[in-house]
Amino acid sequence: MPDPEMTAVLERQRQAFLTEGAPDIGMRRDRLARLRKATLAHRRDLARAISADFSHRSAHESDLLELMVVVQAIDYLQKNLRRFMRPQKRHVAPTYRAGRAWVEYQPKGIIGIMAPWNYPVSLVLIPLATALAAGNRAMLKPSELTQRTSALLRDMLAEAFPEDEVAVILGGPEVGAAFSRLPFDHLLFTGSTPVGRKVMQTASENLVPLTLELGGKSPAIIAPGQVNRRTMEGLTFGKLSNGGQTCVAPDYALVHRDDLDAFRAAYEETVRRFYPAGPTSPDYTAIINDRHFARLNGLLEDAKTKGAEIIPVGHRPDSAASRPQTIAPTLVLNAGDDCAVMQDEIFGPILPVRSYETMDEVIAFVNARPRPLALYYFGPRDAECGKLLAQTTSGNVCINATMMHVAQDDLPFGGIGPSGMGAYHGPEGFRAMSHAKGIYAQGRWNPARLLHAPFGRFAKLAARLNLR
Ligand code: NAD
Repeated sequence: MPDPEMTAVLERQRQAFLTEGAPDIGMRRDRLARLRKATLAHRRDLARAISADFSHRSAHESDLLELMVVVQAIDYLQKNLRRFMRPQKRHVAPTYRAGRAWVEYQPKGIIGIMAPWNYPVSLVLIPLATALAAGNRAMLKPSELTQRTSALLRDMLAEAFPEDEVAVILGGPEVGAAFSRLPFDHLLFTGSTPVGRKVMQTASENLVPLTLELGGKSPAIIAPGQVNRRTMEGLTFGKLSNGGQTCVAPDYALVHRDDLDAFRAAYEETVRRFYPAGPTSPDYTAIINDRHFARLNGLLEDAKTKGAEIIPVGHRPDSAASRPQTIAPTLVLNAGDDCAVMQDEIFGPILPVRSYETMDEVIAFVNARPRPLALYYFGPRDAECGKLLAQTTSGNVCINATMMHVAQDDLPFGGIGPSGMGAYHGPEGFRAMSHAKGIYAQGRWNPARLLHAPFGRFAKLAARLNLR
């Protein structure tokens, strides 16, 4: 059953959209500027709310991985807005030469945005900025797991925008289910693959076009002999930022057989350097809630009973127990395919490591599994790298770093198959939230008239020329 209150908000937005028509560049710029200003004005409150929701997250991490990327995305959209909005001239076939063809990127209307808890600000505000840049209005459904942050976002956005421009709906899975049933003009869902599947099903009732930003197991492949400082820092940054609770975190590592010992020692050393005070370091993020804490411990327990080696790493890993919901960085060696840690998305500071001998083996390993959101490769950009990239399919690829592709505003960001559908960021994001309306305008002289009935010699000539 559609929810009457949410339906009423959508109706008000739709009426306002229809009355206003497609907003001009000035109005779009003003909306983006309001969003930027509100974000910066609430920067510290947002970081505090996030930290309270996670039980601990450094304000620096929130600044760097959430607020900075939001501001950067808004600035990118402002800078490129005129170019994105410009109609595109298209080719006209010789028979219709007197006419003109072009594409106009028209706002779709009302965009629904559903977001997860792991980056509770940026995963709401970057899609919102994209929707506004493309001339839309938006309804947002942030996560119920980050209650304080979501409530703050609602208040902050209510100060900056009237409800018929931007509205925030709070609630859990039931509210999410009702939200995904609304007849939006486009729905962008970021979250888990199982919920994404449900959302797609409900959205299909109204044939709502979808962007699905999902998760999965992103591999990190370390080329032979490439266990070095750059590799280990890139990998550790991706694995342990936000306590590993990142959709594009490297999920597991594939390391050459001869490098395993060096890898283990180098990971230990890098984790110590990143978090000198160990898992209670102020820079180390806690696990979002008890359920996820238990889930992650369950993954370790399962791997242990199936014969894998569990190695907590870094400075005083045992001290994790002295802080709520904290799990020390942990390596898992020799985990077989039957271990849950090699099947489920980990979403925590646990790194299984598997060995390989040849790049063909790596390619077969990746291709035997669902297509990942990101694929990481550490090594030279040589023929082996080229082969890996050409023969595997993933949402994105990042070479000699992790997560940095997400920070590139001009690159499309998204998954493929079980890791997602469609992309945002870059021109692709603007286009996804616009309707590409193809327009043809007939010229004064219309040679196509010669082709109208009653058919005669011109029809025969056209057929002779075109059907060769
Ligand atoms: P989730 O799927 O549980 O929740 C996402 C949103 O859906 C929340 O707003 C939630 O309230 C809502 N929801 C929950 N159950 C629902 C239902 N039955 N019907 C409709 N809506 C429902 O995801 P999560 O646990 O919040 O986030 C973690 C997942 O998100 C991971 O799998 C991660 O990989 C993925 N993720 C993907 C990206 C990306 O950009 N691709 C980014 C961050 C997280």
